[in-house]
Amino acid sequence: MQDFPLTITTIMRCGAGVFGEAEVATWTGDGTRRRTYAEVGERAARLAGALRGLGVDGDQRVATFLWNNTEHLEAYLAVPSMGAVLHTLNLRLFPDQLVYIANHAEDRVVIVDASLIPLLAPVLARFETVRHVVVAGEGDTAPLEGAGKELHGYEELLAAAPAEFAWPEIDERSAAAMCYTSGTTGNPKGVVYSHRSAYLHSMSTCTGNAMGLSASDVVLPVVPMFHANAWGLPYAAVMAGAPLVMPDRFLQAEPLVRLIEAERPTVAGAVPTIWSDVLRYAKEHGSDLTSLRLVPCGGSAVPESLMRGFEEIGVRIVQAWGMTETSPVASVAHPPPGAADEEAWRARVSQGRVLAGLEMRIVGDGDAVLPSDGEAVGEVEIRGPWITGAYHLDEDPGRFHDGWLRTGDVGTLSPDGYLVLTDRAKDVIKSGGEWISSVELENHLMAHPDVVEAAVVGVPDDRWQERPLASVVVRDGAVVTAEELREFLAGRVAGWQVPERWAFLTEVPKTSVGKFDKKVLRRRYADGDLE
Ligand code: ADP
Repeated sequence: MQDFPLTITTIMRCGAGVFGEAEVATWTGDGTRRRTYAEVGERAARLAGALRGLGVDGDQRVATFLWNNTEHLEAYLAVPSMGAVLHTLNLRLFPDQLVYIANHAEDRVVIVDASLIPLLAPVLARFETVRHVVVAGEGDTAPLEGAGKELHGYEELLAAAPAEFAWPEIDERSAAAMCYTSGTTGNPKGVVYSHRSAYLHSMSTCTGNAMGLSASDVVLPVVPMFHANAWGLPYAAVMAGAPLVMPDRFLQAEPLVRLIEAERPTVAGAVPTIWSDVLRYAKEHGSDLTSLRLVPCGGSAVPESLMRGFEEIGVRIVQAWGMTETSPVASVAHPPPGAADEEAWRARVSQGRVLAGLEMRIVGDGDAVLPSDGEAVGEVEIRGPWITGAYHLDEDPGRFHDGWLRTGDVGTLSPDGYLVLTDRAKDVIKSGGEWISSVELENHLMAHPDVVEAAVVGVPDDRWQERPLASVVVRDGAVVTAEELREFLAGRVAGWQVPERWAFLTEVPKTSVGKFDKKVLRRRYADGDLE
């Protein structure tokens, strides 16, 4: 067989050529702006030419500070295909983290959305290697002046660049894109995706055991393109020829529901917190979300109550598991064919079945490999062609083990490949020598009809070493006591696992990517006895 490289350039050529009529629709708040894949392909060529004109060469990094929109897709295609490396900056990070990341990656150019200038301006002068800032969209650029960077307009640059670009031949193992983990502990770490890994991950996403994307789908990535490449959905959609619907900055339930009703996507990916807001809104307003045939959901455990709630309005949520280091999709929880109701739900609330091409195992104390029998609990390790083998310029040997990535997640693996996570290693609650799964307690609590959010953390305890503390948010207008919730749990988990300490909040603090921020909760309640 021919040794033909697996590259993003090939994905782009296929999308812009074979599927040139497919469209990308970006929400503007009251309608959409649209471009065909053929136009996006031409604009990617112009962008590549423009970036070359700004001196971008070799594998230099081009950063994006953008929402999910057409321009971001253009950068996704142009930057890797010209041989440079796309670095998606997480616009929700703290300023110091942004500065660390941009300097660590040695970004040369930043493409910023005009609406995000107020976030970029205060840190720009500290981006030491950045020479150029390209502004997409209309807005006041004055705050960016004085940072010592050259400013350019995105559309002006594209208009002045040639409509064609001589795309270079690229080694499939070379770097295409990079993304930093959100750094819940220590400095963020850079994961570098190769052309080959992005290509294989996209193909995997198009298989039936994953999302089964095809040209008949319309794909809505709500998960940000600055977070693990929006779960690879943009590349997979272009490869499949599936039109894309982009939410831009409109990420609240109301505009998302309007967008879904207007553009009728068939596949939409987002974290559970977003979907639970969407579900509440859709139920209150009788919205029609039935165009969605599949809603991949992950990033944190997907509560069964959320899945059942969506079933009631005719929409199927499918849980997926992965991390920035795994490109990210590594397992998807489709039930076994023909499974009876109870068995099907057991599979659906799991973190899913490992995808072909990847291998998983469970490792216990002393690095002993434990059986995949659905019982033995240990750290999940994974390997495969879209799993990172190292961090960018950051030796962290503790995360790698004989060619496997240690995920930091704890759980079991069944003989037929279903992963069930009980916790992240750092969130496990150790009470009197026994482990309590925070995820299990959260799942049960969120099944209570009046509980909207629940996050459980371990807090120090003189007698038991650690005890669970549950922070809950109740439905507007509902009155629920700790005693009622304790009784609710008592029938569902062992008595000694039921928390004694409760906090009633208006909102659980979230990380930059919308997960419960347990670090904040642990700090807040480290010494507090609450009722
Ligand atoms: P960070 O590690 O910085 O939070 P990631 O987005 O890469 O960033 O997070 C990956 C982690 O998210 C996984 O290691 C796992 O703990 C959690 N996660 C992802 N999907 C799921 C899921 N379906 N169920 C439970 N946890 C999940």
